[in-house]
Amino acid sequence: IEEKLVCQGCGVTIQSDNKEKPGFVPQSALSNEPVICQRCFRLKHYNEVQDVPYTDGDFLEMISQIAKTKSLVVKIVDVFDFNGSFIKSLHRLTGNNPIILVGNKIDLLPKSTNLSRLKQWMKKSAKDMGLTVQDVFLVSSKTGRGFDQVKHGIESYRNKRDVYVVGCTNVGKSTFINYLISESTGAKDAITTSYFPGTTLGFIDIPLDERSSLYDTPGVINRQQLTHYLSSEDIKMITPTKEIKPRVYQINSQQTLFVGGLIRIDYIKGEKQPFVLYFANSLSIHRTKLEKADQLYYTHLGELLTPPSKDSRGEYPPLQERTFKLSGEKTDIVLPGLGWIAVPAEPITITISSPADVSVSIRTALI
Ligand code: GDP
Repeated sequence: IEEKLVCQGCGVTIQSDNKEKPGFVPQSALSNEPVICQRCFRLKHYNEVQDVPYTDGDFLEMISQIAKTKSLVVKIVDVFDFNGSFIKSLHRLTGNNPIILVGNKIDLLPKSTNLSRLKQWMKKSAKDMGLTVQDVFLVSSKTGRGFDQVKHGIESYRNKRDVYVVGCTNVGKSTFINYLISESTGAKDAITTSYFPGTTLGFIDIPLDERSSLYDTPGVINRQQLTHYLSSEDIKMITPTKEIKPRVYQINSQQTLFVGGLIRIDYIKGEKQPFVLYFANSLSIHRTKLEKADQLYYTHLGELLTPPSKDSRGEYPPLQERTFKLSGEKTDIVLPGLGWIAVPAEPITITISSPADVSVSIRTALI
């Protein structure tokens, strides 16, 4: 029996018949050790990502195999894009298996972030979206923070069963697994990682002990993510790479803030207040009078108000308004994929304009 050859980078089945299909390796390179597919090869050596000819349906079909197993599901989300990276449909596909939720990229959060409040919020938000999780862990796959706890958590919740790691593209799933592997084996960069969505292709089998394995699964593409409307240059501007520095704006009512040209915040009613903005440090913020905001947006989108850039602004969906009347607690207005704005505990009215698919939410302030 011929053994099935899989790519050591992404786990896809290797073939050398069709250049356009996943897993292609030229005949001449088949005997290389380790064998990696053309896509991973390019990614590794040229940092270049090729499009994957899988449909969203293919991905979901692959994930739905998990429902037939008895396992622990480890679901990874990006703490910076909780709603955008959550994928509501996922838990229907993973069956009745217990789930733990892992929030990745905590190195990007300001040091003063209240992590236990973040955990509570994640647990509750998951529940509100119909998913009961056993536990929540916060990690940074970049620095290794939180890995002792999450490793311990996986060991105790899996109860000797297999582990499936699921998540939407770009949450850092590969980086997370690489870190787990390098800790236990010392191997570096065992799995391909990249800046762009859609990198991991197949199920990668990583033995945990003689009887069980940890499986990496294809990253599900989530159309609700802001990144799907933006060019790769734009994505670089909105993606934080370092700890976020809060930016404080003293705002009067009837003033507007633009976050690039992506989202607009109108302060409709209330006393002069400090609004604290938590976005990638490279993302520019513009303040103007509410009465001038429409004009500014129409004339300067893609220029002063960027991203989206001049080239990608045509793809960017029209903004839709949503009004919040807040009072009582200090509140974060969360903009999935971008960051959040902390507003004080005063009675205020704010209108947020964002693409219809990008669901704005509120929570008790984390800081
Ligand atoms: P995947 O598509 O979910 O497998 O995501 P990757 O592992 O390819 O990571 C996507 C991007 O997020 C890459 O640019 C990673 O360097 C970055 N990334 C992953 N984990 C972390 C983290 O803990 N902190 C930070 N700052 N970036 C991370």
